[in-house]
Amino acid sequence: MADDCIFCKIVAGEIPAEVVQEDEHALAFMDLNPWTRGHALVIPRNHSSDLLEVSDDDLARTAAAAKRLAARMKERLDADGINLLNACGPAAWQTVFHFHVHVIPRYEDDPLQLPTRPQEADEEELAAVAGELR
Ligand code: AMP
Ligand code: ZN
Repeated sequence: MADDCIFCKIVAGEIPAEVVQEDEHALAFMDLNPWTRGHALVIPRNHSSDLLEVSDDDLARTAAAAKRLAARMKERLDADGINLLNACGPAAWQTVFHFHVHVIPRYEDDPLQLPTRPQEADEEELAAVAGELR
């Protein structure tokens, strides 16, 4: 457990949360500022700050828990689709530094929109960045 981590405090039962699913390794609870009805967060019980720090085992267990929760959202909330989202680092909108995956049920008539308008890539730039990643 990390000092001053609100999600560790939820794991420890020191602050309240609407827990909807839990097992030995992962916990899911409702996000306090939901983007849609049913928006939840899945976290590993072990503390790690973000995607680059979480162990492969905790990542796999958290992903599996997110998948189970997504199926339940389709069944119980009649969701039409699901977005999984992870923010890694402040530049990517991370605000709580205990690794977590947002599981966001989507409805045909919900108001969420992509925060950007995808634009076709420049071929040379695409090849250049691919080269940097290989
Ligand atoms: P992120 O910005 O990806 O780090 O997401 C952090 C999320 O945690 C935000 O959507 C917050 O609404 C949510 N959040 C912060 N504190 C709590 C809390 N005590 N219980 C439930 N959700 C929380
Ligand atoms: Zn933590």
